[in-house]
Amino acid sequence: MAPKKRILLFATKLGYQTRSFQAAAEKLGVDLAYVTDRCSHLDDPWNDQALPVHFELPEGAAGAVLERQRGLQADGVLAVGDRPTLTAAYVARGLGLPHNHPGSVEACRSKLRMREVLRDAGMPVPWFHALALDPLPEPALLGIRFPCVLKPISLSASQGVVRANNREEFLAAAARLKRLLNSPEVRATREPHLDQMLVEGYLEGREVAVEGLLTDGTLRVLAIFDKPDPLEGPYFEETIYVTPSRLSAAEQRAIEQSFVGAARALGLTHGPAHGEFRLNEQGVWPIEMAARPIGGLCARALRLVLEVGKETIGLEELILRHALGMAGSYAPRESAASGVMMIPVPRSGVLEKVEGEEAAKSTPGITSLEITARRHDFIAAWPEGSSYLGFLFAHARQPAEVETALREAHQKLHFTLTPRLAVQHPVSHTVPPAG
Ligand code: ADP
Repeated sequence: MAPKKRILLFATKLGYQTRSFQAAAEKLGVDLAYVTDRCSHLDDPWNDQALPVHFELPEGAAGAVLERQRGLQADGVLAVGDRPTLTAAYVARGLGLPHNHPGSVEACRSKLRMREVLRDAGMPVPWFHALALDPLPEPALLGIRFPCVLKPISLSASQGVVRANNREEFLAAAARLKRLLNSPEVRATREPHLDQMLVEGYLEGREVAVEGLLTDGTLRVLAIFDKPDPLEGPYFEETIYVTPSRLSAAEQRAIEQSFVGAARALGLTHGPAHGEFRLNEQGVWPIEMAARPIGGLCARALRLVLEVGKETIGLEELILRHALGMAGSYAPRESAASGVMMIPVPRSGVLEKVEGEEAAKSTPGITSLEITARRHDFIAAWPEGSSYLGFLFAHARQPAEVETALREAHQKLHFTLTPRLAVQHPVSHTVPPAG
């Protein structure tokens, strides 16, 4: 019998996506070996022989993985989430496995480097400056125009991203961003450039997310997700994603071209890729590109048809098949419409109670609801926050029905959040559903 194929999966936490990879691997008879930076002082943090490393030191981490891998079989390398992507790229290089070049992945991990690379390749980019946060910069002296967007250089999930329309808003946003980047939670990530921010021109227009899979430099678009809520700031937490896109065929072609152009400019060649784009009268603007699949639970909104008339497969199975060169990695997306709502956090607080779950779940078109925030835990709203209250999924014939189902179900949910300062004098109030 041929030996089982073995994939190295790089992840910061054991979450929904790693579990989906595990399920897909079991189905395909593939072994998964985890590499994580959680609990790096423990030898086996998850009690599953995961290899502990420090993702903030990618070359060193890769060296440690290659050392431990010596003599072991590895047929593919995959990363979940942004943080492990660079270590994964170095390891793939060391093992001679097809993967993105570490330099390309590094450019995706820095919002500043990405802007430079895209600009130098002639792609449309807003004006941008990297500015130190200490002392806080004076926009009038730097020729900053408004509206603009202030953002951290190396965080993700829109954490710390703020729009400013004038000098006062700029100064307030910069002070807030500086506080966030100096917070113990963010410092603990040891991400680079925590003493700087990127300031860039605000781009008007509609936004889409695109999911793709690269094979030796050729990009296949798996889905374009419309984001039907206006994302105009001042903060940019995500809400609804719906596919297929309702944009015109010409607009979708232009988005695909921009995705291909951005991937080429950055030098991405192999494996999953995720991009965010804005469209306006001047064309399609890449907002950001990542050398990884769509995050966490959202991947569930993507189902692919391996065999007509049979059950669809998930993105993780598709990615595993692709990494191993197995049949089926060209499976197209199902024809039905599908979508997800990342349930927004209306204000920071301790999550005391969630009501209306059954009513939300029984809304026509809703396929599932996952409340991922834990009761009695503090959850931060954007711009300091980076995780959602939960996720609603919908499935229907048409994208408009999916969007309606998600909005209706969300209306039925009530989250009780208590301000953290109120611990001594408990006053709780019910947050009205965001509409
Ligand atoms: P992150 O990697 O943390 O998600 P992004 O740079 O992708 O950071 O920004 C997050 C969101 O903020 C984007 O999806 C978009 O909605 C908004 N945004 C970021 N930059 C701009 C910009 N220049 N103009 C308009 N909106 C922006």
